[in-house]
Amino acid sequence: MHHSSRQIRLKKVLRQNRLDALLVTHLPNIRYLSGFTGSAGALLVSERQVLLFTDGRYKEQARAEVEGARVVVGCKAALVSAGEWLNENGKREGIRTLSIEAQHLTVADRAQLQKALRSDTRLREVPPLIERARMVKDEEEINRLRSAVRLGSSLFDAALKVIRPGTKEIEVAAEMEYEARRAGAEGMSFETIIASGLRSALPHGRASTATIPPNGFVVCDFGIILAGYCSDMTRTVHVGKPNHDARNMYDAVREAQQAAIDRVRAGVSVAGVDQAARKVLTARGLGKYFTHSTGHGVGLEIHEMPRIARGQPELLGSGMAITVEPGVYVPGVGGVRIEDMVVVSEGGCEVLTPTSKELIII
Ligand code: ZN
Ligand code: ZN
Repeated sequence: MHHSSRQIRLKKVLRQNRLDALLVTHLPNIRYLSGFTGSAGALLVSERQVLLFTDGRYKEQARAEVEGARVVVGCKAALVSAGEWLNENGKREGIRTLSIEAQHLTVADRAQLQKALRSDTRLREVPPLIERARMVKDEEEINRLRSAVRLGSSLFDAALKVIRPGTKEIEVAAEMEYEARRAGAEGMSFETIIASGLRSALPHGRASTATIPPNGFVVCDFGIILAGYCSDMTRTVHVGKPNHDARNMYDAVREAQQAAIDRVRAGVSVAGVDQAARKVLTARGLGKYFTHSTGHGVGLEIHEMPRIARGQPELLGSGMAITVEPGVYVPGVGGVRIEDMVVVSEGGCEVLTPTSKELIII
């Protein structure tokens, strides 16, 4: 693992921003920087120190997992332990201002930390510095994503075996999730979406007790976690013979998704990728039914930076892992979404999702 090199990179960012120290409290960020996978901890990163504060429950686990950081096991909450350590050592370490992750520390946590700290240590809110670093994946992360996507995509076969008129959406999700666990997944990366018939027009139609009707689309959006990394994919199938409009809708989304994938390469703006999908759907008269953004980064978390959306200034960089997932949702009719995961490269991208995008009719 490259935890130490990630810490060195973060220290450089801290120097560039003239920050004395950052207290990392967002668990995926702690995992990214140190390898610690426990559910209670705080990681203090300064020029000279990298310390993981946790409590007795995680003593053994932290010592086994953590790389490049000293583990401090306290009997109080990690935030309080960190505060007390700073009271004792902050001055000597040149830490006058402690940066905190503004997007993640709750108001209550902040108050608890402030209370634990001596009054001359100031807190300073900083933007998502680690999330920015996490956008570009290293070789090992890309390999993990590949494995997660491979396992995740195999669940689609499990879904196809049970998608039938009369089957409940949650039964389909249950089969997929059972299969995921048996295949070694740590869990699902989000609540499985199985949205059939009119419900397919709900972009986030979590599997419900509704039964699959005899005719209509079924949107299947699902992902698993493997070795900490998330997969995310969507396929839409049609139960019964699709009419002309349904075919049109599917073809349009497939074409839009391909256009967006074709646009992906290092140096292109995320808004440009979004635009490529939107342009196809608008030309087909379906633009107004594409009501969400085209994709998102994915890694240790299911939704990471960058957002592939209109008005976003971000440029794609080599090694970023993103989803490409345009969709069309016509209220009272139905919806279609197709989603792949891709890794950005200098010349284009590698599509990780191996599953065919031909319309499957059940
Ligand atoms: Zn998805
Ligand atoms: Zn997604």
